Amino acid sequence: MKAKFLGGGDEVGRLGMVLSTDRYKFLFDYGMNPTKPPTFPMLAPKVDGVFVTHSHLDHVGMLPWLNKNGGANVYAAPPTLSVIPILLYDSVKIANIEGTNLPYEEFDVDSIIESFTPLNYGETMEFKDQEITSHPTGHLIGSSMYQIKNDRTIVFTGDIQSIDTHLLFGIKPISTEILVVESTYAGKEHPPRQNVEENFLSSIQRVVENDGVAVVPAFATGRAQELLMVLENTDYEIWIDGMARTVCNVLLSFPKYIKNYQRYKKMLRRVRMVRSKSDREKALNGDVILTTSGMLDGGPVLNYISQLNDPKNGLFLTGYQVEDTNGRMLLETGSIDLAGVATKVNMDVKFFDFSAHSGHKELVEFIEGSRPEKVVLMHGEKREELAKDITSSKVVLPKNGEEFEI
Ligand SMILES: [Zn+2]
Ligand SMILES: [Zn+2]
Repeated sequence: MKAKFLGGGDEVGRLGMVLSTDRYKFLFDYGMNPTKPPTFPMLAPKVDGVFVTHSHLDHVGMLPWLNKNGGANVYAAPPTLSVIPILLYDSVKIANIEGTNLPYEEFDVDSIIESFTPLNYGETMEFKDQEITSHPTGHLIGSSMYQIKNDRTIVFTGDIQSIDTHLLFGIKPISTEILVVESTYAGKEHPPRQNVEENFLSSIQRVVENDGVAVVPAFATGRAQELLMVLENTDYEIWIDGMARTVCNVLLSFPKYIKNYQRYKKMLRRVRMVRSKSDREKALNGDVILTTSGMLDGGPVLNYISQLNDPKNGLFLTGYQVEDTNGRMLLETGSIDLAGVATKVNMDVKFFDFSAHSGHKELVEFIEGSRPEKVVLMHGEKREELAKDITSSKVVLPKNGEEFEI
């Protein structure tokens, strides 16, 4: 068996890994980097099946291109399959508005969606002598890792979260001979989640007491839903806007995939949805606005910043800000690009580490718990730092495009 990263091996983003057995070729994830301009992985060979770990663009943004290469069956958990079309159609829309090139068009999105095949947690797909089973990873609602069994056992994780959060249980290791695992936070630890939540809530409280509005940019998938639950025991007037609103509603259809489903449903009923221009005006007088995009690269958040750009209002970033995004520019320079004009942000800007990834120590624990002979580290920029803490398994650090033996 051989494997090759088309992207996302030695970097965070645009992930795609081809696994070739003597009879089959499978693809695990196929994403793009939604930077400006976007970047893409290498082109995939014709494959017998695609297994998607979760609905983040760096794992799914290149899927429609497969339609140009003869198509492929795409397997993932039902919540993942329901969210992917929202992300892909939005990418096409943004590319059209900004005049950037995507290697596919809207009809490719239409076609690839037709080949979506649900694979629930615990279910197994059989390809003659191969069995592929899905398991939860704690990263997002519906995020899956895949256990491939033939004469050997391989696990491909996608992105993982070890701690229990409001909506999900942390990932549990499963024994495997070969483990392909993400390493985004190699060399880095997260502050304790409870402290992050307390700081976040007290920062909001200060803004609200000061008659201000707290604008909370959040990724549509994962972060927006989790933050809603962080706000569960408050009585603020909370508005939710943009793709975050759409995805929160779509995920309501998957009670089995959400730890505290009844509470999530209740919370979603209590918050106010921005559905019109007049709602957007009303939201400006609320307490908290939860909106997309999480990295300030588009979406209603930019409108809110331009309307509320005053020190009494808060702008609370809640996720990692990738290089070349407006969010990163804000953290580094204090300004963002608003319709082509560098604009100083006068709001109270803060960053909260609500990461959905395991930190360094948890990655080591997860790897040790899986007891693999061999570990392939991917989706990381500092993989060496993790490699040096793994003592009981052989560690492989493949580069993009480099074929390696499994
Ligand atoms: Zn992810
Ligand atoms: Zn990722």
